[in-house]
Amino acid sequence: YDLRNEDLKDLQELGQGNGGSVKKVEHIPTGTIMAKKIVLIDAKPSVRKQILRELHIMHECNSRYIVSFYGAYLADPNICICMEVMDKGSLDGIYKKIGAIDIDIVGQVALAVLEGLTYLYDVHRIIHRDIKPSNMLCNSKGEIKICDFGVSGELINSIADTFVGTSTYMSPERIQGAQYTVKSDVWSLGISLIELALGRFPFAESEADDSDLSDLEGTLSPARPGSMGSIAALSLPPRPPKSASSKKDKRKSKGVSLQGGGMTMSILELLQHIVNEPAPKLTEGRFPVMAESFIDCCLLKDPDARKTPKELLDYPWIEQAKSSTIDIEAWTQTF
Ligand code: ATP
Ligand code: MG
Repeated sequence: YDLRNEDLKDLQELGQGNGGSVKKVEHIPTGTIMAKKIVLIDAKPSVRKQILRELHIMHECNSRYIVSFYGAYLADPNICICMEVMDKGSLDGIYKKIGAIDIDIVGQVALAVLEGLTYLYDVHRIIHRDIKPSNMLCNSKGEIKICDFGVSGELINSIADTFVGTSTYMSPERIQGAQYTVKSDVWSLGISLIELALGRFPFAESEADDSDLSDLEGTLSPARPGSMGSIAALSLPPRPPKSASSKKDKRKSKGVSLQGGGMTMSILELLQHIVNEPAPKLTEGRFPVMAESFIDCCLLKDPDARKTPKELLDYPWIEQAKSSTIDIEAWTQTF
């Protein structure tokens, strides 16, 4: 496809994230229906072109566990990324609609994500870097696929500069400034699976309620790879001037969504919690032991002890998911 903005007709909004919005569009010349993600990027033209070049390898990412890529183009000041539409949306949207997801379906999610991560790393040496339920998509054919992986170093840098949200799925070693590895994705997978199985973000239950600290959310801008140092080294930037853009306010309100039962945990508290406290677990007794111990394995705080996606594909709960006859297509008809 030779994609141009004027050839794409908006059909419907599919969702909004921190960095931009996603619309269902029709590519008029071919009649192809696509999901167009608009990413606002504050970068020089040379950097934008570099990002486009880097996105090109997504054309080579062909796997049934990866959302297909149609192409990307510049539409000042945005970059538009066109991909396959997944008509049942993301797993965060699904659990927010239907509640906690059945553990056997969660097993299928774990299997698909591990297969997708293994493909990306083994074939392309790509680390995903943003595993979370909103980047796990599902369609009415019963397919589960991952999207929004970090193919472009420049794109990661450009977005990271203006970004807070994702840090909540970040592994303890990443919070402390270590490089990303495939094992950081495994941590994020473990957090995501608990979230799907419980129907809520696992860190939401906090004793802490410090509204002063939660004020900082709009001003912390951590995620540039490698730049964060350690929590202890995080210095608190001055408050932004009152004129801080409404975009920032939107991000902030998303950051504060770490609430549950009237308790609030600020981003800073949450990051400290991830580093210092025991990892979350599936509630004991409510789920199969195999699922519990798989998730414990994903959430080993020491990255050296944590397994890679490929190793986890041999884990008993995943082997069981491979031979399961569960009908995901039928499940998607229930919502
Ligand atoms: P963040 O900005 O923190 O990464 P996000 O992943 O929700 O959050 P986007 O990647 O911009 O943000 O996606 C916004 C929403 O659009 C998603 O939550 C998902 O529901 C929907 N979406 C994204 N890609 C597709 C797609 N290919 N098909 C269908 N829906 C999609
Ligand atoms: Mg996304």
